[in-house]
Amino acid sequence: MTNTSKNRAPELGRFSFGIGDRFGHQGAAQLAALIEARREGINVTPVWNKSNREHSLIGTRPEDTRAAADAAVAEKEWIHAYLLDADHVGLANVDKFIHACDFFTLDVADAIGKPADDSAISNLAERVLKIFGSAPELPGLGRKLDLHRELVEAAARKYLNAAIEAGKTYRHITEQRGAATFVVEVSMDETDSPQTPAELLVILTALSDEKIPVRTIAPRFSGRFNKGVDYVGNPAAFGREFEADVAVLALACANLGLPDDIKLSVHSGSDKFSIYEPIRKTLEKTGAGLHLKTAGTTWLEELIGLSLAGGDALEFVKEIWGAALVRREELSKPYATVIDIDPAGLPPVEEVAGWDGGRFAAALRHIPENPNFNPNLRQLLHVAFKLAAEAGQRYITLLEKHRDIIAREVTANLLERHIRKVFPRG
Ligand SMILES: [Zn+2]
Repeated sequence: MTNTSKNRAPELGRFSFGIGDRFGHQGAAQLAALIEARREGINVTPVWNKSNREHSLIGTRPEDTRAAADAAVAEKEWIHAYLLDADHVGLANVDKFIHACDFFTLDVADAIGKPADDSAISNLAERVLKIFGSAPELPGLGRKLDLHRELVEAAARKYLNAAIEAGKTYRHITEQRGAATFVVEVSMDETDSPQTPAELLVILTALSDEKIPVRTIAPRFSGRFNKGVDYVGNPAAFGREFEADVAVLALACANLGLPDDIKLSVHSGSDKFSIYEPIRKTLEKTGAGLHLKTAGTTWLEELIGLSLAGGDALEFVKEIWGAALVRREELSKPYATVIDIDPAGLPPVEEVAGWDGGRFAAALRHIPENPNFNPNLRQLLHVAFKLAAEAGQRYITLLEKHRDIIAREVTANLLERHIRKVFPRG
């Protein structure tokens, strides 16, 4: 089935899950997790996301992701919606994604803090205050949002230019694809300072002025969202922030003519176990939707499967580890802001040489209670996928040879550690 029938924006459903598959071999195993979840009453739409950065490090194109997703859908006879996300794109690099993707994450983080012109800023501030007043009630929370004039003007100054930039990219895509043939996400997560709920409301007003039918919005939340490891921050404070953002979306939706299924997108970087419960509780309480984006940790499940397979597969994993230690700085560089690796916590090659497959898998598999779990090793391997790309066909042959043992890890990881924990039934 196709999601891109003319003049109708694709289905996304209340819950959607951004899944990465760096090497394009685990689509069927990922779908197996979603199929089992549906059997349990948890309905989630898969969205395969792959950023420009990932494509360029691996040497793939969006068409490869499309082919892998379509093949997985055919193999598993998945009859529900599925989408492909051009993740973190802007005017400069969106073109190569235009026809392969039907979900576009417009990353406007770089435009934040560059003020638009003064009259446009004060017009936006005026409009926000006219529509919402200076202390609108937050739906469902029994408290008011503080929107005093200085705060609204400061938010307009900081974010209007980002909304204008999103508008340019949105119209550029529309000119080539036609309107309403794709899902639009606007992301501001890759920036240093979190957006407050009040700022989010100003941003949504600016996006509606740009006539962008934004379906998902990814703010920068408080705390750290490092790749492949748990949340660093106060989960209860995150829960309050998330709940306020959900209320802001409801308020915006009721007043701004944005799509009525607009929802938050959490760019989790995968494995934010300690905030899954506050998220799920808010979703259950409010009926809100969620898009949860994960990083390409499926590649780590491939390494776990290969470790467990033993023999030449385990040897390959150990080789990757040796090379990752040598090239740590180079591999970490593109991800510097989203990893925290303590070099002293990285097991040396001589130690790892004595590990069997189960020991390696335990160091890598994200089970925080397991004393052998090592978050430093996990983060370094997470960013080391370039080494497997360099191994080329040798790596792909191992993936194919050990397909079943890898698939079990991929499916169980998504289902047990993520889907069941964060998405409510319904
Ligand atoms: Zn992101």
